[in-house]
Amino acid sequence: MDPTWLLVLLPLAVTFGWLAARRARPQPRQPSAPKGISETYFRSINFLANDQHDKALDVLAKALEDHDESLEIQLALGTLFRRRGEIEKATQIHQSLISRPGLRPEQKSQVLFELANDYFKAGLLDRSENLLLELGAGDGLREPALRLLIQIYESEREWESAIAAASRLDSLTAEACSPVVAQYHCELGERDLSAGDYAAAKSRADEALKRYANCARAIILLGRLEALTDKHRQAVSTWMRLCEEHPDMVHEVARLVQTSAESLGKPALYIDFLNRALTASADERLQLLLVDYLSSQGRAQEAETHLLSWVDENASLPGVHRLLEMRTGEDADAVSRQDYRLVQRVTGKLLAERTGYECRFCGFQGKSLHWQCPGCKHWDTTVPRLATTKWS
Ligand SMILES: [Zn+2]
Repeated sequence: MDPTWLLVLLPLAVTFGWLAARRARPQPRQPSAPKGISETYFRSINFLANDQHDKALDVLAKALEDHDESLEIQLALGTLFRRRGEIEKATQIHQSLISRPGLRPEQKSQVLFELANDYFKAGLLDRSENLLLELGAGDGLREPALRLLIQIYESEREWESAIAAASRLDSLTAEACSPVVAQYHCELGERDLSAGDYAAAKSRADEALKRYANCARAIILLGRLEALTDKHRQAVSTWMRLCEEHPDMVHEVARLVQTSAESLGKPALYIDFLNRALTASADERLQLLLVDYLSSQGRAQEAETHLLSWVDENASLPGVHRLLEMRTGEDADAVSRQDYRLVQRVTGKLLAERTGYECRFCGFQGKSLHWQCPGCKHWDTTVPRLATTKWS
């Protein structure tokens, strides 16, 4: 039997044992109760012993419906159903609890909160939001309610509401929400940019940096807006900040820097940027950009020398792959060219397995950069998978 189930269900069964013992004391007005509860207890234990967790849970849930004093257990049971993906059962339990007469205000709030969680899991976000707003500001569930509200607003991409809720959470707890609020401003900035409203987008980028001065996404966005409004020199300066503040994000703007440098008629700016970036970052893709650039400028020998030196020092797989590509295009005989291509296919396959992006929090891997991890929903946790290798 899965030990998790034992941890969850045995305490419930034990509670029944306790209830059974309690009810077993002389109670003249309810002579039949001990028998019913004992039967439930033994039936559920029997199901557990036979690894029939679902049936055990159903028996316990049915029996618990009749016990007014078991609110906490019923709440736990509802949570258990929800975690198991049985949202309908969880909702039924919580709806039945909410209609009970005599609930104290804090008990009612707790049940409403659980019901809001059920609706959230079921995708009924409006209902969930309404219940959470109904909870009010005065009870002890304010913090978890705000957290759930933020999840809802993120799911619905209601960034203004998310900013308001996160700001309230920030003032309520010691938790710094500024980096996440900066991301919400960036989302709005991206939306404004797509709509062609560069001034509004810039205000959002500025606000994001005001909230969190180290926000890589806002720095990238600000540079893009400056480039779009022909302030290329300013854009390059803005992106240069990443070399010191976010070396792992430098590659994201390298091509943009190249375009701006070319627009200014100053290609040397791009080389300066790459050299500075290479000093700060171990991202091998930057080395490849430098090699590509030198080759495109007719400096093939310089590019090859740089590549050989880099591979020699770092045992770089992307470097070997690029070198094979160079060799294949050179005046090699047919057999050598065939061999180069074969080995290059192997290095290409190996590279495909170790490139892309990865979440530092949950390990989610993808081919593109996500500012919010699709796996764990954390913000700004995705970084490039850098496969740096040394000979020893
Ligand atoms: Zn993640």
